[in-house]
Amino acid sequence: VVAGFGPSEDIRELRDRVRTFVDTEVVPVEAEALRTDRQDLLRELMARAKADGLWALGHPKELGGGGLTTVDYTYIGEAAGRSAPATAALGAHTLQDALLLARYGDGGQRDRWLDPLVAGDLFLGVAMTEPEVAGSDPKVLRTTADPVAGGWVLDGHKWFTSWADRAAAVVVFARTDPTAGLERQLSAFLVPTDTPGFRVERLLTTMGGPSTLGELRLDRVRVPDDHLLGERGAGFAIAQERLGPNRLYEAMRWLGQAERAFEMLCVRAVTRYAHGSLLAEKGEIQRYVAETAAAIQATRLLTLDAARRLDAGEDARLAISMVKFQAARMLHDAIDRAIQVHGAAGLSDDLPLERMYRDARAARLYDGPDEVHRMVVARRLLDDPETNAPWA
Ligand SMILES: Cc1cc2nc3c(=O)[nH]c(=O)nc-3n(C[C@H](O)[C@H](O)[C@H](O)COP(=O)(O)OP(=O)(O)OC[C@H]3O[C@@H](n4cnc5c(N)ncnc54)[C@H](O)[C@@H]3O)c2cc1C
Repeated sequence: VVAGFGPSEDIRELRDRVRTFVDTEVVPVEAEALRTDRQDLLRELMARAKADGLWALGHPKELGGGGLTTVDYTYIGEAAGRSAPATAALGAHTLQDALLLARYGDGGQRDRWLDPLVAGDLFLGVAMTEPEVAGSDPKVLRTTADPVAGGWVLDGHKWFTSWADRAAAVVVFARTDPTAGLERQLSAFLVPTDTPGFRVERLLTTMGGPSTLGELRLDRVRVPDDHLLGERGAGFAIAQERLGPNRLYEAMRWLGQAERAFEMLCVRAVTRYAHGSLLAEKGEIQRYVAETAAAIQATRLLTLDAARRLDAGEDARLAISMVKFQAARMLHDAIDRAIQVHGAAGLSDDLPLERMYRDARAARLYDGPDEVHRMVVARRLLDDPETNAPWA
């Protein structure tokens, strides 16, 4: 293994254990494990991951995690990504929120939320996006939080809020300072979901599938001062910090999905016979195999490079934006080709590919639509290509 381009022996061994756990414990129940009415199943998987020593491997040790670097965790995240519920089953879903609470939460907030969050005993949602305004531009959001004696009153309408079916609290981004500079207008609040006036109106169905994403109403929701996360006006910075590295962890997951689709593509190609030969012997199918493998490996290397920058404390924003749109496209194409070589079976829910494809379509939208990331990359490069190019 060339230094920097592969996992160490220890990480390889850990990755193989994660992969075995995912393939044998999670994949057989994956269609059910994220269903709102099967939270018991997810809890069982979580308990087994803990018992196997595979829980929260990427969380810092001081938060009760495995303390892996981002580079080392890339290999683990890739193995975990093979099956959609595995991220939560392995306790990886709380990493960004846990880091946020550790950094911005005060003593009381950390005591109340942090340990149970990392332990998987409670879920936190994130409510930024609103139906009425462009979610890709948080500066235009409309939900307000007005100061009152001893606290705040929040009013607003959110949707695509994560874990809306089970969250104990939601991090709500709201406008507190409409006349401040654009980057100081928002604040973040930890709102317990049983606060009067907080209502989950419905769970959203996306591309034919039920989801845990919800539409919320906040109708004169009153929270005390100590529910403000970080300083007043820090919401924009908090949102950036929450979303930035998250994109990299999503890319790891997408790599796992793409690798699984690639394996299915190959198995089908070497077993299906049509028009006088196996599919694997046809040039066009060989092109699918070669191009999919090249795109997966290119994305892995981009991901590892961004992870290395994060670990080194460098500015990784350009690298992460590149990963975001490259990985989302790669994921889509890998699953699309796997469906294609499976013919009609690829569309049926006898196989996992149709579900994977529906999930993959969302990748080009969430954590910032691809267009926004391409805009960020292009602006930085056009500004000063010699300094800002990742190979500079
Ligand atoms: C599966 C999933 C999970 C999600 N989870 C959460 C969550 O937990 N919390 C949360 O708050 N939100 C969540 N979201 C919402 C997501 O963050 C938003 O959908 C996203 O930010 C885009 O906002 P929007 O949908 O309002 O689209 P808009 O901002 O209205 O953008 C629509 C389209 O306009 C185009 N566009 C926008 N800006 C540009 C530009 N600069 N240049 C060119 N074209 C552009 C793009 O094609 C874009 O897709 C989730 C969404 C999905 C699909």
